[in-house]
Amino acid sequence: VKDGTKLLKKTKGKTKIAKGEIGGGSFQSMGLHPSILRSLTLRGYRVPTPIQRLSIPTLLATPPRDLVGMARTGSGKTLAYMIPLVQRLGGRHSTAFGARALIMAPARELALQVLKVGKELVRGWNSGSGDHAGDAEETDNVKAQSLRWGLVVGGEGLDEQFEMITNNPDVIIATPGRLLHLIVEMNLDLRSVQYVVFDEADRLFEMGFATALDEILHRLPASRQTLLFSATLPKSLVEFAKAGLQDPKLVRLDAES
Ligand code: ADP
Ligand code: MG
Repeated sequence: VKDGTKLLKKTKGKTKIAKGEIGGGSFQSMGLHPSILRSLTLRGYRVPTPIQRLSIPTLLATPPRDLVGMARTGSGKTLAYMIPLVQRLGGRHSTAFGARALIMAPARELALQVLKVGKELVRGWNSGSGDHAGDAEETDNVKAQSLRWGLVVGGEGLDEQFEMITNNPDVIIATPGRLLHLIVEMNLDLRSVQYVVFDEADRLFEMGFATALDEILHRLPASRQTLLFSATLPKSLVEFAKAGLQDPKLVRLDAES
């Protein structure tokens, strides 16, 4: 697991992660914002899943590193990228122009699920009893607004989506077809995006979004941090990862994940 690049180059080889390498991490040891820890506790998430344990510290490290996360359905991949996203964005709305994060999902229903996970994670940001009492600056700043989410998916009215984008969301959760439509029709500018996630990437490709994804990649700034999460890693996806990600760490969990 130490060198993900090598693994990405020979993805057919069976790579197993030994139990000892997985162990150790807890949410508390990851340096997460107290509001995130409180949300996780409220939701009953006591211990990170293996994909979360292996991804979150890497995604929060400096300098930012790209990552390919491969683990079966139901292994907790959403929080593996959503926790670092919320932490990196500071859990708050930024009045600076443009979205700071983009999550690509293959279908409307999945995008809605992802949105729910994200909103739950930032719910009550900084509220409640101060287990971070030294944080006077943030608690005094009553005007700080909560993180804004923009859902850009097929099946929603275009007018509402134009309005949503005009509202300057911090995070855009999108399906490729509709996002591309907004890029073309309303000059949606993605150059402010620092954190990009391709969720259920294998399905994104199965559903024929390859061309749209290439288009979208070209609109993103080169300096971004890019993540790709998938249950399987077919050849098309390896090619896409090579084109869109820079020296990614590969976290690959097979059967035991
Ligand atoms: P995947 O994207 O890998 O298919 P999800 O992110 O949808 O998996 O998570 C699957 C389920 O696991 C969800 O119901 C989620 O709430 C739950 N889950 C995620 N992380 C944890 C955790 N650390 N502890 C307990 N349950 C978790
Ligand atoms: Mg998922």
